[in-house]
Amino acid sequence: MADILLHRVLPMAKRMISERVQPGDTVVDATAGNGNDTLFLAELVGETGHVVAFDIQQQALEATNRHLGELAGRATLIHDSHANVREYVQSEISGAMFNLGYLPYSDDLSIITTPSSTIAAIHAMLGLLKKSGIITITVYDGHEGGSEERDALLDYVSTLHQGDVHAIRYELLNQRRNPPFLLALEKMKDFKEVRTVEAGE
Ligand code: SAH
Repeated sequence: MADILLHRVLPMAKRMISERVQPGDTVVDATAGNGNDTLFLAELVGETGHVVAFDIQQQALEATNRHLGELAGRATLIHDSHANVREYVQSEISGAMFNLGYLPYSDDLSIITTPSSTIAAIHAMLGLLKKSGIITITVYDGHEGGSEERDALLDYVSTLHQGDVHAIRYELLNQRRNPPFLLALEKMKDFKEVRTVEAGE
């Protein structure tokens, strides 16, 4: 048994997504960045599936396109905020991946994901998701603005009605240097808009 069960955060996110995404599915990469998750998703959905990938930086979409190489035809790259996902995606999706924070190696590391658009995007994607579909959100809180986004996200996911969504947090406790943690959301039943409950209800 050389295999790892308690993966680091990024491989664990992929593991969860691969449990639910089938060839032929439509899926979303909410933060294309350098395109690592876009390529992973393009491989999973196969020739008949499709990946819709968002980024607000042209430089990220160019990197993603290069990274996709021969699989570029399986992805639509959208230069807009993931908060506007409903303008671009009408079909059901079986999975979505978010990798928050700034674009590594970018000229402008001050361009980061922000609480309001991240939450609006997650909220919209929960509506688009199939029953049993999965959303993974890799959260970084070490950069400026990161802790505000973390707190807002934790508040939001805690309000999701437990009959509609199971929300979990997964993290390695003994890693140094501000490792990311993972939030994962599984859709438990069909709905167009997720129900929310106020804290204490
Ligand atoms: N922190 C991760 C990488 C995150 S990349 C790591 O270290 O590996 C995050 C990407 O999200 C960036 O390319 C950024 O341009 C993009 N982004 C920021 N706000 C966005 C939004 N509203 N919609 C879509 N993409 C966004």
